[in-house]
Amino acid sequence: MKLSRSLFLLTLTTPFLAPLAGPADANAPLSKVPQSGWYRMALGEFEVTALSDGTAPIPVEKRLIGPPAKITSALTKAFLTPPFDTSVNAFLINTGTKLVLIDAGTDGAFGPSVGKLLANLKAAGYAAEQIDEIYITHMHGDHIGGLLTAGTPTFPHATVRAAKAEADYWLSQANMDKAPAEKKDLFKKAMATINPLIAAGKLKPFDGPTDLVAGIKAVPAPGHTPGHTFYQVTSGGQTLVAWGDALVVASVQLADPTVSVVVDNDSQGAVATRKAALADAAKNGYIVALAHVPFPGLGHLGAEGSGYRWYPVNYTFSPRK
Ligand SMILES: [Zn+2]
Repeated sequence: MKLSRSLFLLTLTTPFLAPLAGPADANAPLSKVPQSGWYRMALGEFEVTALSDGTAPIPVEKRLIGPPAKITSALTKAFLTPPFDTSVNAFLINTGTKLVLIDAGTDGAFGPSVGKLLANLKAAGYAAEQIDEIYITHMHGDHIGGLLTAGTPTFPHATVRAAKAEADYWLSQANMDKAPAEKKDLFKKAMATINPLIAAGKLKPFDGPTDLVAGIKAVPAPGHTPGHTFYQVTSGGQTLVAWGDALVVASVQLADPTVSVVVDNDSQGAVATRKAALADAAKNGYIVALAHVPFPGLGHLGAEGSGYRWYPVNYTFSPRK
């Protein structure tokens, strides 16, 4: 027993022994195959499948509002040098009777390394036609872009749900006219994506806290955008809350939740929402699903010092044994 344990530890700690086993002139081209883009876990009686839309290099230090020295130091501490690849994640909930997609990824407008949600949905075993409902956390392009493919609904049988406050804000020509120049594209993208869905009778807005399908409810979480919404998923005594963009750059905003992002509509509101959400998650220990934390973006939060720490879910190869 003691000997086999020592051998096990030896194999873990001496990887340099392995190449000796192969021929000296072996031809081993490096693989350019991307990662697997889906990750499944059980949540009570439900299944949650994180779907990667891909990753894109983002100069995060230019997108964050906070003391620059503090931001740089937090990134350095996390071994991150911008621009580094930032995940774009969406989440598929199978309640047993309904397939619900939370957010829809990009449409590829953010570069060739994203726009992969549909391919990863298929790789996870589902077809676009099977999706019953899509819940949108907010109407930024990296959360709604994937709703359309070449101008038509990507998920032909799905009802799209989003807060009325979100639709009212982004689909308003008057709001776009008075927005600063650098934010007008956000309105154009929302209108170009959501208006065809309204015309096709696919958008069904809700107002305030709302029970959606059994086990999933919408919870208003404004700040990042006016109608930004969390989705709380509960089954068999377990809870997951999808936060959209309430936390975007975990390596910086967990240590200092007062750091905001340039696309926050209301910085103070976004900070207040983030602080309340972090405190609640750390206190109650539920799973949090995040759109831009490294894939699969599923984990727990714990208090640490004056901030918080992210604990990714424990990797489980076969979640239903
Ligand atoms: Zn986002």
